Amino acid sequence: MRKLDHDQALVLFSGGQDSSIALAWALDRYGRVETIGFDYGQRHAVELETRQEMLASLRQAFPAWAAKLGDDTLIDGGALRSLSETAMTHETEIVMAENGLPTTFVPGRNLFFLVLAGALAYRRNTGVLVAGMCEADYSGYPDCRAATLSEQMAALRLGMETDLDLETPLMRITKAESWRLAEKLGGEKLVALVNENSHTCYRGERGDRHEWGYGCGECPACELRAKGWAEYRAGT
Ligand code: ZN
Repeated sequence: MRKLDHDQALVLFSGGQDSSIALAWALDRYGRVETIGFDYGQRHAVELETRQEMLASLRQAFPAWAAKLGDDTLIDGGALRSLSETAMTHETEIVMAENGLPTTFVPGRNLFFLVLAGALAYRRNTGVLVAGMCEADYSGYPDCRAATLSEQMAALRLGMETDLDLETPLMRITKAESWRLAEKLGGEKLVALVNENSHTCYRGERGDRHEWGYGCGECPACELRAKGWAEYRAGT
């Protein structure tokens, strides 16, 4: 059994609202934090650009966090593109499919990401993975649920004979509550920074700046984000 350093975290960081807040949570909690992202042929490279802006602005605004924030690793997940026929990687309409899942569901995607993140963590002697999965108000993706992740982490620990853990600080909280968490971690400054720099829109639109951030305002991800922001601002 290889014992890893549990004061080191590796954050699965996509540049979205949830993983940005999860990153801040990790920076508040651990002595050393690295990030990992995946380029898997997303329809829009916007996410990959905004994640760099988010890292740069976090470093600038929070010097104490900058001192802990280490390497960012971008992994080529192009194998997913060749497998996938879904809306996230191809120009298919975003709708609910017959199986009850949105067409943005990429089978195996998060399972695949977690294996790669686990392998990198092992090499870095990092004991904790941190991810922004949330099942409270968006349970469409079965690979983001706590039950799935718990089983997969058990498999990773067995398969690498190590004591790797996973923390998902947003798993059971709503989008409004996750904004409140951001406020607690870094005040209004962090809330404004995540709102400005994080990307959520499925269509990859960053033309219009709404009160809740950038996006098309019509896709399911934008609707959820707008609703969460409104609830947060209303204090509900
Ligand atoms: Zn949108």
